Amino acid sequence: MNSNKVIAIDGYASTGKSTLAKMLSIHYNLTFIDSGALYRAVTHFALEGGFLKDNYFDQVALESALKNLTLKFESDKRFLFLNGENISNKIRLPRVSDHVSSIAALPIVRKFLLHQQRQMVNENGLVMDGRDIGTIVFPNADHKFFFTARPEVRARRRYEELMNQGHEITFDEVLSNLIHRDKIDTGRDIAPLLKANDALEIDTSKVTIDEVFDCLVEKIDSK
Ligand code: C5P
Repeated sequence: MNSNKVIAIDGYASTGKSTLAKMLSIHYNLTFIDSGALYRAVTHFALEGGFLKDNYFDQVALESALKNLTLKFESDKRFLFLNGENISNKIRLPRVSDHVSSIAALPIVRKFLLHQQRQMVNENGLVMDGRDIGTIVFPNADHKFFFTARPEVRARRRYEELMNQGHEITFDEVLSNLIHRDKIDTGRDIAPLLKANDALEIDTSKVTIDEVFDCLVEKIDSK
């Protein structure tokens, strides 16, 4: 595979997109970008800045503050920095998960991040995962995949991940957050979660990560 290729992986929350995107980036020596982390970062920024509270949102103030927001992946793209602060752990907090889909539905936020995501393509090529990568961000991507899985399977995986990271949360809270986010992500007017016509759909409910990886590599190499 040529080194400057773009691979897009879209799909529902916690279907294994980022894990597989990371594995492919190592296998093909491509840059890996988790676009969900960028939406989470803007949400964290809105919460920290006081623009967003549980029953309050100042969109005008957020829009103006976005002008002073710099997002940068560092250290082999493992950590995300917001205006110089490493926020990689904070963006996984349940409070961010609870609000991220509402923030991601805002045209001002999508426009801001669309620009940033397109600027991340470099001579290395990249693997980016998200919700609208194959449809909007990189409609001409060389390879497109769309991941699905049963909600209970996704919630179980996410719950175990969060428990291992020491977060205090119940399985039901994780499940209802995933269902809530899927609903907003699929129903929004701008760049909704949608399978691109030319994307290959993969149900990750009953297969291991390694099996999905082998399937993706086979598809990519045979194209
Ligand atoms: O990938 P992750 O589950 O961390 O994404 C968090 C949220 O960010 C999603 O539920 C969605 O609302 C938003 N998102 C998006 N478009 C993307 C990536 C993420 O709207 N390309």
